[in-house]
Amino acid sequence: MSKLDNVIVALDFKTHKQTLDFCESISGTFKWVKVGMELFYSQGSNLITQLKELDFKIFLDLKMHDIPNTVEQASYALTKLGIDMFNIHLSGGKTMIQSAIRGRERAIIDFELNQRPMLIGVTVLTSLDQNDLTEELKIQHQIDDYVLELAKLASSAGIDGVVCSAKEAQSIKKNVDARLKCITPGIRFDEKDGQDQKRVVTPKQAIKFGSDFLVIGRPITQANDIDLAIKQLKQDLA
Ligand code: C5P
Repeated sequence: MSKLDNVIVALDFKTHKQTLDFCESISGTFKWVKVGMELFYSQGSNLITQLKELDFKIFLDLKMHDIPNTVEQASYALTKLGIDMFNIHLSGGKTMIQSAIRGRERAIIDFELNQRPMLIGVTVLTSLDQNDLTEELKIQHQIDDYVLELAKLASSAGIDGVVCSAKEAQSIKKNVDARLKCITPGIRFDEKDGQDQKRVVTPKQAIKFGSDFLVIGRPITQANDIDLAIKQLKQDLA
């Protein structure tokens, strides 16, 4: 298995053509791609079908956060698309998380699907830091502790993994649940170049910290030389 098999490339593109051209160029190099709100809301589910035809595994990153009934029905609809991973915000609470699981299970039965997409929960966005948590959101916890509390909720509700910074992965596995998969955005070749991401690590550090899947967007998709960025990523992960 190639180290790149643990990388999920975030397809934050504006158009269908840009997305498919890029995906054709990386097919055979990467196994996983991520479709987020920008692309799904503009292109809809047809794109998912086309990406599946290109043989990619798909993480549908819509970060659901709503009342339990709505999330259950949405989870049912997304599971029907035949994706491989999707997510919710853990701050929606345990009933909401379990409703998402129920929606997934009902869809698997109703549509006789032969695969169960991983359901994962967002802890604290990697674009937030301690200052945002304390000063803006008025959450009186250290960020690492708050991530751990949300990971405990994920584990007790019975989902497959969490979205967190790789900085928190080791502690989640050690202190919460070694089976929880850690999916980690906020990956940069140069930690000082985070753009809107604040809890940032390099690919090499992410692997060292025990991240199961590295989500990487702009450092690859917007690189001046994409082949060079992929080469650097391979070297970093080696
Ligand atoms: O371009 P960049 O590498 O920052 O992309 C990160 C991707 O991961 C984006 O598509 C973003 O929506 C997503 N993401 C994130 N933080 C989370 C969950 C998802 O950055 N907690």
